[in-house]
Amino acid sequence: MLMKAIRYHGPNQPFRLEEISVPEPGPGEVRIKIQAAGMCHTELHFASGLLNLGVAPLTMGHEISGVIESVGDNVNKARIGERVLVYYYAGCGTCEWCRKGEENLCSHLRHEYGFFNDGGYAEYIVVPARNAVTLPEDISTEEAAPIGCGVTTAIHALNLANIKPNDTIVVYGVGAVAFGLIQIGKLRGANVVGISRTPEKLELASELGADHTINANEVESTANVIREITNGRGADVVFELVAVKETIEQSKQMLTKRGRLVFVGYSEDQFNIHPIELVINEVSVMGSVGNTLEELQEAVRLVAQNKVRTIVAQVLPLDRWAEGLEALQQGNVKGRVVLKP
Ligand SMILES: [Zn+2]
Ligand SMILES: [Zn+2]
Repeated sequence: MLMKAIRYHGPNQPFRLEEISVPEPGPGEVRIKIQAAGMCHTELHFASGLLNLGVAPLTMGHEISGVIESVGDNVNKARIGERVLVYYYAGCGTCEWCRKGEENLCSHLRHEYGFFNDGGYAEYIVVPARNAVTLPEDISTEEAAPIGCGVTTAIHALNLANIKPNDTIVVYGVGAVAFGLIQIGKLRGANVVGISRTPEKLELASELGADHTINANEVESTANVIREITNGRGADVVFELVAVKETIEQSKQMLTKRGRLVFVGYSEDQFNIHPIELVINEVSVMGSVGNTLEELQEAVRLVAQNKVRTIVAQVLPLDRWAEGLEALQQGNVKGRVVLKP
């Protein structure tokens, strides 16, 4: 049996729509009929060659939801028909990180769907049964897909940055992860500032609860605006989702004492810092990658309880993936583009 899949063929080569074999579920695995796959910036990093894990061809996509269609040995057949969201890491289960439930840092990952194993831009995917997380009835598979990376990445970054009530947090760049950071930052009692160059995205940031928004096109220095908003104090945490030279420079200038600069996004640009800039104000720089299974379960709960909503900007059939990628590249998508096989 064959299925359609959108596949990566190496750096600087266009993705291609191909027909490949439908994978068979082995022992302990389930086969999911994919109903929605979110398009993440990561796919642009694959396309440009910035992210290259050396595995090609490879089906793209790591925000995946659908229905369990068949199961392998040792999986309860009652799960057939269950609506699920995929947790895209499958760790070794035995290393120090896996034992702490932090599979996103496992050094011996068995699978990472859409990174070095075939992902969700396809009609079917096979994953271990524990990676297929049950979706409550009231979340559609389309709105669920962006939870898989967008919302969960936000929860992980907020946890790492150890956000406390009344902290001022800056969300630098307003895309799918930012929408999670803003909403969950507010749930945790933070004072949230969103920065973007797109008025429509800033409007949405306000709608989702941001206390302040800054259009970077309209000010000379975003760092100065942050100082004004905080009576000269600065931000406790800046989440860098853009990470180009200019935003990084502003980000480090807007931190208060013991402030944390958290890189969630990255670009081709390097980042320069003199140790004295860290020492004098006891500032930390950190990186945040992916999420744990527990964080994904929390994300699903928050969406089910209507405390967080995902923003689906557009739903496209699988074979129109190029349009979605183009829109993502232009930076004019207000939320996630979701592919529907
Ligand atoms: Zn992602
Ligand atoms: Zn491990």
